[in-house]
Amino acid sequence: PNAATEAFITASEAHSAHNYHPLPVVVATAEGAWMTDVEGRRYLDMLAGYSALNFGHGNQRLIEAAKAQLERVTLTSRAFYHDRFSAFCTQLAELCGMDMVLPMNTGAEAVETAVKTARKWGYQVKGVLDGRAKIVVAGNNFHGRTTTIVSFSTDHEARADFGPYTPGFEIVPYGDLTALRGAVTENTVAVLLEPIQGEAGVLVPPAGYLPAVRELTRERNVLFIADEIQSGLGRTGRTFACEHEGVVPDMYVLGKALGGGVVPVSAVVSSREVLGVFKPGEHGSTFGGNPLACAVALEVIAMLRTGEFQQRAAELGEHLHAELGLLTGTGKVTQVRGRGLWAGVDIDPSYGTGREISEKLMAKGVLVKDTHGSTIRIAPPLMISKEDLDWGLDQLRAVLAV
Ligand code: PLP
Repeated sequence: PNAATEAFITASEAHSAHNYHPLPVVVATAEGAWMTDVEGRRYLDMLAGYSALNFGHGNQRLIEAAKAQLERVTLTSRAFYHDRFSAFCTQLAELCGMDMVLPMNTGAEAVETAVKTARKWGYQVKGVLDGRAKIVVAGNNFHGRTTTIVSFSTDHEARADFGPYTPGFEIVPYGDLTALRGAVTENTVAVLLEPIQGEAGVLVPPAGYLPAVRELTRERNVLFIADEIQSGLGRTGRTFACEHEGVVPDMYVLGKALGGGVVPVSAVVSSREVLGVFKPGEHGSTFGGNPLACAVALEVIAMLRTGEFQQRAAELGEHLHAELGLLTGTGKVTQVRGRGLWAGVDIDPSYGTGREISEKLMAKGVLVKDTHGSTIRIAPPLMISKEDLDWGLDQLRAVLAV
């Protein structure tokens, strides 16, 4: 890095908490699938803001919708109605095939909302005795960073020294149906799962697992909550990752791409029976469902309704996985997982850590990020061209010297 980059990094580290370990690149501008740093170097973005930038940087439709809304009204709070709210809720519910929407801002807030909703539903509808509600979650989950959410994390770094922890959660191994069946009791109100575990390294559960979870939860009168914050909204080649297994959960938890990388927008989407449990004053957020968020999200929903992005993710994803699959024959890549334009690539540890590979890719003009030791995660914007994707893969092959 040159002096300008060094200066930005030093100043950032001096006055910010060190809760991240970013790659040493300082981004100044971005367009489509490309970012430019303060030195004028260009990088192909193969991370897409952890899937928040599914429609690319500076997407014209999203920027124009945001600009137009900035000129009209940006915040009303939920003390008043505003003229973008009904369209947002109606169209998001329709996209999800559900009845009702509860908008929030970040992913973690939406997960918290899902937890509160499930508990309230458990007490008011299912008839669980007060204070007894249990939610079953999976090992290696990632649902966010709040105190309640880290209470049911199995990641030491995410959890240690943040207790006392919120009770009421049961952790079972991901993909293990027998363990899940054993954990569900009459006090269980929900099973909360990522249909594909993102932060864990893009782990796809065994075929048949999600349908079996659906069947079990239906039989036992338990809500099936799908955290599609990272997997949803086109990433896997379908609107929702659950669709690949023909599964419709009771509740979708959405975030990231819902705001198109422009504004934070998250939501819980569910049936009237479930989200209908809320009465005024029982839950909320100053910014949740604000006019700017709704205006941007409406464009996101409109783009998803065409199916164009899902199809791109499916087609380019097939190509991506075919190419990555070839790398497993080289000995340098031990496993590749994922679906659509989303892949976890395990590098043989003798060849380098995920961090080292990410730094080498950065030097070649490709930005990805490691997760858990030797895994790199590939998740480019869904609008990436095949040529750019192939160029990115060329750089990966060059770094691995294959
Ligand atoms: N749930 C899943 C599946 C995620 O991948 C993430 C973020 O990575 C979250 C929840 C938390 O979202 P946020 O960082 O917006 O709070």
